[in-house]
Amino acid sequence: MKEKPEEIEGIKVTDSIKYLGIEIEGKRNMFKKQKKKMMEKAEKLANLTYSIIAKSCHKILIGKTYWKNVALPGILYGTAVMNITESEIKRLQQIENGVGRKILGAPSYAAVATLRGEIGMSEMKTRIAGGRLRFVKGIEEGRNDLLKTILEEMKENENNRWMKETKKWIKDMEMNDRTFRRMGREELKAKIREVDGKKWRDEIKEKNSLEIYEQEKGQIGEEMFYDNKPNSIIMYRARANCLKLNDRKRHEAGGRVECKLCGAVNEDLAHFILECPDLSDERRKIVELQQPYEEEKKKIIGNVLFKKEGIEKRKEYIYQMWKKRESYITQGYA
Ligand SMILES: [Zn+2]
Repeated sequence: MKEKPEEIEGIKVTDSIKYLGIEIEGKRNMFKKQKKKMMEKAEKLANLTYSIIAKSCHKILIGKTYWKNVALPGILYGTAVMNITESEIKRLQQIENGVGRKILGAPSYAAVATLRGEIGMSEMKTRIAGGRLRFVKGIEEGRNDLLKTILEEMKENENNRWMKETKKWIKDMEMNDRTFRRMGREELKAKIREVDGKKWRDEIKEKNSLEIYEQEKGQIGEEMFYDNKPNSIIMYRARANCLKLNDRKRHEAGGRVECKLCGAVNEDLAHFILECPDLSDERRKIVELQQPYEEEKKKIIGNVLFKKEGIEKRKEYIYQMWKKRESYITQGYA
């Protein structure tokens, strides 16, 4: 309309209204403003993570509780009814990866799957798609006939973006319309978790650098041994094979991969944990590393980094080894 009426049948005409906490505009893209707010909120709350965990005594516990129970419900509020594009999901995932890195002290090149694995988080997409599918299920099983009718009409309309998205997500979660309709709410939840876990395992499998991680860490699950001590950061990096060892420099032009301590040709995780003779004093404190080895190398590294029993002690010993390496490199031999 060129000239908007001020009111229709006694109801004031406005450009936008807030309904149940969601901003709705009188445009084709009615949730545009709300989605912009969602992104801003996600960034703001993600940036707060660092100061929240820095003051806490336990990073995983506090960081995860804050992000999952405080930040996410606010950020994702209303996504069940809004059109959410793949690129919006991607952006939210990037923001969440940043939170995961802050919690674990992970470098930017750490594999995202290890952040999810160690903190115990599902993917952003799983959350958003899961919320949507549970919402649809709720309507189908509920008693609101008006909502049911609207949903049925939307299903018939092939151009409805929201419905297209929903149908795609049903497929992505390895269901079809029929199996989705048959599933109860709990079953649906379990199915979504299963697909999320499968995707996580595939990601781990794809990376050569995560061979030991794959072998030792069977499934996504929070690791409570990460606290606010620096040894937690080194332990994470060792487990996720993203310690700043010289082997990493093979990607750089002219990068030198040899061990700066002993001169061995390639300083990788196995060299650091098992082999470097210059770290043998520290290594001797770790029972699992006492030679001669009875198991294959990968298994020994796996035990040292992943065996639950005694991990607190080993966490500190590995950190001492790391500190020794650092001081050799910065100050040379004493
Ligand atoms: Zn060495």
